[in-house]
Amino acid sequence: ITPPELSVFESLESEVRSYCRGWPAVFDRAQGSWLHDEDGHAYLDFFSGAGALNYGHNNPVLKRALLDYLERDGITHGLDMSTTAKRRFLTSFQDVVLRPRELDYKVMFPGPTGTNAVEAALKLARKVKGREAIVSFTNAFHGMSLGALAVTGNAFKRAGAGIPLVHGTPMPFDHYLDDQTPDFLWFERLLEDQGSGLNRPAAVIVETIQGEGGINVARPQWLRQLAELCERRDMLLIVDDIQMGCGRTGPFFSFEEAGITPDIVTLSKSIGGYGMPMSLTLFKPELDIWEPGEHNGTFRGNNPAFVTATAALDTYWADGQMEKQTLARGDQVESAMRDILREHRDTKADFRGRGLVWGLEFADKSRAAKVCARAFELGLLLETSGPQSEVVKLLPALTIGPDELDEGLRITARAVRET
Ligand code: PLP
Repeated sequence: ITPPELSVFESLESEVRSYCRGWPAVFDRAQGSWLHDEDGHAYLDFFSGAGALNYGHNNPVLKRALLDYLERDGITHGLDMSTTAKRRFLTSFQDVVLRPRELDYKVMFPGPTGTNAVEAALKLARKVKGREAIVSFTNAFHGMSLGALAVTGNAFKRAGAGIPLVHGTPMPFDHYLDDQTPDFLWFERLLEDQGSGLNRPAAVIVETIQGEGGINVARPQWLRQLAELCERRDMLLIVDDIQMGCGRTGPFFSFEEAGITPDIVTLSKSIGGYGMPMSLTLFKPELDIWEPGEHNGTFRGNNPAFVTATAALDTYWADGQMEKQTLARGDQVESAMRDILREHRDTKADFRGRGLVWGLEFADKSRAAKVCARAFELGLLLETSGPQSEVVKLLPALTIGPDELDEGLRITARAVRET
């Protein structure tokens, strides 16, 4: 591959840019699970816009809905005004997502990004409880603004703030605990020390699978115990489903498998359906305490995103097939992961995941980055995950076909073999 001309990126764009370094190409077009660069190279996409493209690139159904909407001069910017596009989205969200799962949540549109949804969740929890501390977990990732960063368990990202970030109380995530001790004695002790006063945490924020933290999977039993502890200790449970929600792990919400009902849920990334910026903060009706306008912002009601989000829900979630298909594709990935590890006889290597999110970790922590670099040369986008970039992360579109999935898995196996 000839190195592309990157001069304007290098001369003008901030050094903080990162994905372009691992994937030195200038991308131009994309369709389904494929990206094409301006030199005509094709890449199979196992990155899916960091989870924002669960339905693939330029999904034809969503594209048609969007083009029809724009051609009839639909509203493109509406703050939080009532619009027909928003009504259609709310109706589908209620009928396709909430009602079949017997979930009773109020819906708030906090802004375009996942970080906006997390900030709203943390702020609301603090206001409801009148307390400040939030419990978070080692290796958690919740976003880059100061509040979300304070509960993000990544020293490198936190250092970006340049100041100490307080208000988070970090706890070990399930993945790092001994299998034999899934209870929360350590956590209970800490809460007892804090007594019943204002020092007590207002809420706990957790991902069911840590997407940026290394594909660390919480056991359903651990999540149930966490939910029970939150209830007993008067703390709100926030599940950040920004990356694992919208069907990534199989069911629409990743916490469904554990049978828990969080007090607050954050969604973003694939909820807009077409890579369109959109986020939701869902909360139990009794938490709906903000006065009109007490929390607002310009870019909340992204009406074109409402259109693609509605089309995605109606197309992929109304008939209940998406979950089965994702779990079947997940079995395909799992058996390929098993074959890769068998071939490599690396007894310390590990793979883990659920649905269509998987991580592959080797004893040599520097290997994941090499595997991803080799995969790129072979025409596959794979990202690393984890605090030391020690995990190869596989995140194909949920709409990927079995043959394309096989092709990407074959390239992954070859990249492992050749590094
Ligand atoms: N929460 C989780 C679990 C995420 O994975 C991410 C992004 O990767 C965020 C929050 C932040 O979302 P955004 O990057 O859209 O602000």
